[in-house]
Amino acid sequence: MNADKEKLLKYWKKDKIVKDAKILKALTDVKREEFIPDYQKKFAYDDIPLHIGEGQTISQPTTVAIMTQALSPKLGEKILEVGTGSGYQSAILSKIIGPKGKIITIEYLKELYLFAKKNLKDFKNVSVLHGDGSKGYPKEAPFDKIIVTAAASSIPKQLLGQLKTGGVLVIPVGDFIQEMQKITKTKEGLKKEKLGEFRFVPLVLEDDGK
Ligand code: SAH
Repeated sequence: MNADKEKLLKYWKKDKIVKDAKILKALTDVKREEFIPDYQKKFAYDDIPLHIGEGQTISQPTTVAIMTQALSPKLGEKILEVGTGSGYQSAILSKIIGPKGKIITIEYLKELYLFAKKNLKDFKNVSVLHGDGSKGYPKEAPFDKIIVTAAASSIPKQLLGQLKTGGVLVIPVGDFIQEMQKITKTKEGLKKEKLGEFRFVPLVLEDDGK
């Protein structure tokens, strides 16, 4: 295995960033270099975000590891991702939920939607859609888990509405710097956990939620 990749996997395990063996296996099996434009491939296992075109980036590997652990995907689950980008995060989730699970991932920019669709062609449990995902995807709701990989200034209400009771939403919230939040929808209400500060590209809101 690539030495830099091995280093990342060791770090996530040692520092308990990834606690679940299935998540570690998915991060081992999926090749990040396959989700990156050719001229950037040599940096695939540097722990940094990389340009994927259209002014967007594939998230830093450790950010993907942290968000996946927070989401704690399980076999057979139905998961919505808002912000497909390269498709890398979806590929990781796809391996964990298995053939009976389903990932719906929505990308706003046409070029990246096409890029991700190509990158994910062998991931049969992933549906890549083109459009505004900030309002979720009512047709396939409710979801076990929802992951948003672009920054929202507040949590879109429609997303919470499309989450099952017991479900988890992971989303970076804030305008300049974002706080990663893990929201668990319980019978008693919403439980919020804060996972630290991150930087994401902004989530496009087509009509500003009005
Ligand atoms: N998860 C990605 C990284 C995503 S970068 C990966 O693994 O590579 C964030 C992406 O969110 C960008 O591609 C951006 O175009 C997209 N995005 C922003 N607002 C959106 C919206 N309202 N609906 C769907 N996608 C959106």
